[in-house]
Amino acid sequence: MTVTDIRIPDEIKPVDGRFGSGPSKVRPEGVEALSAVSRTFMGTSHRQKTVKNQVARMRRGLAEFFSLPDGYEVILSNGGTSAFWDTAAFGLVRDRAQFAEFGEFGAKFVKAVVDAPFLSSPTVHQAPGGQAAFLTAEAGVDVYASVHNETSTGVAVPVRRVAGADEGALLLTDATSGGGSLDVDLRETDVYYLAPQKALGSDGGIWLALMSPAALDRAFSIKSSGRYIPQFLDLVTAIEQSRLEQTYNTPALATVFLAAEQLDWMNAQGGLSWAVKRSAESAAAIYGWADRSSFATPFVTDPALRSAAVATIDFEGVDAAAIAATLRANDIVDTEPYRKLGRNQLRIALYPTVDPADVAALTTCIDYVVERLA
Ligand SMILES: *Cc1c(COP(=O)(O)O)cnc(C)c1O
Repeated sequence: MTVTDIRIPDEIKPVDGRFGSGPSKVRPEGVEALSAVSRTFMGTSHRQKTVKNQVARMRRGLAEFFSLPDGYEVILSNGGTSAFWDTAAFGLVRDRAQFAEFGEFGAKFVKAVVDAPFLSSPTVHQAPGGQAAFLTAEAGVDVYASVHNETSTGVAVPVRRVAGADEGALLLTDATSGGGSLDVDLRETDVYYLAPQKALGSDGGIWLALMSPAALDRAFSIKSSGRYIPQFLDLVTAIEQSRLEQTYNTPALATVFLAAEQLDWMNAQGGLSWAVKRSAESAAAIYGWADRSSFATPFVTDPALRSAAVATIDFEGVDAAAIAATLRANDIVDTEPYRKLGRNQLRIALYPTVDPADVAALTTCIDYVVERLA
């Protein structure tokens, strides 16, 4: 049989076939709520109350969801996490950064800082795909940066301050995919930044940063030092605009609304602790299945590093690309691995939006496909 000839019976299929790591599943209820405001909210000015109220709802939702500590603020602007890396290179790194790099996303922030001619060369602790690198105290480092969940490899690490770091050094945590699926105490970091198209179950285009008082101070202090900062990447502008419930330039209104809607939903379910539990249930379903399977194994060998936000599963004796293509032909989509990792692998998002029962159903479907591909 060719891949597309295999028809998976409806009875064993997941209710929702979206397992992509980003953009990820958006709840139909969110889109319906958006549809209900299609004439009153969509297509209206982002400088007026109607839109500002939704920005405010999203910021309040994030503050509640992450139990925002005293003095921390929710800052946002346009361009997604990729824009935040450049914003941080201009607006948060005073001179020297240190990175823990263990995948493609961590590497992109490293590049932004390496390329900045006004910054010293950073220290970079690297680990190969599937493993983790960690930060270590180093004199002269004013920004430490790590990734909560490396979406390209499915490795997650705890968010923890660097013991022995210089007084005033900041910790920046890329939580683009980990934020909302993995446990965190924000007092352990200065900037917990994310984008809404992953665990927040919205669409892309904006970045969100939960910033400590020290990080807010740093932004103002670098700005007043006279460093050239492109307008679009000016963190102080983002802070000032966020405080007014707006953005420097036009945001995607649907993205803001869907994120606010999703946060209200997650908070009503029980907030971060509920979300973490739900992702953990999905993780238990997929890793448990892989452990029992004769042809699948978790790519991340150390169970302590295995992500409950994004699972990566290696296959032996069967072509993972053929499995993914067959699943796709049956409306079960985006299980393909991160391209550059180049492994015979599937990658499955375990964000709280995804129903753990659907993850269990997915494993049944993979078994069904593998039996017929062999
Ligand atoms: C998706 C992702 C990014 C990139 O986000 P964009 O909004 O597309 O720029 C960065 N870091 C991590 C960990 C991600 O998962």
